[in-house]
Amino acid sequence: MIVDTNKSCTACGSQRLVFGYTGNSSNAFVPSNIFVIYGFRTRSFVCLDCGYVSQFLSKEKLEKLKARIGEREELNE
Ligand SMILES: [Zn+2]
Repeated sequence: MIVDTNKSCTACGSQRLVFGYTGNSSNAFVPSNIFVIYGFRTRSFVCLDCGYVSQFLSKEKLEKLKARIGEREELNE
């Protein structure tokens, strides 16, 4: 079990989380109205207390998404 104190279960607030990926290969977040070839691979965790499964982007992927949104906002100005 990997404890990430920055994350907690969305449903019950527990920090007893097991991290991994959902999907047979992987799931990806594809933003609307932004062209991306592969999307942003999501990470997942399951809560050991209630079973809730959640997805999120790693910090690296989140920075890439922010950069893409920034590029787009500059283009619209
Ligand atoms: Zn939970």
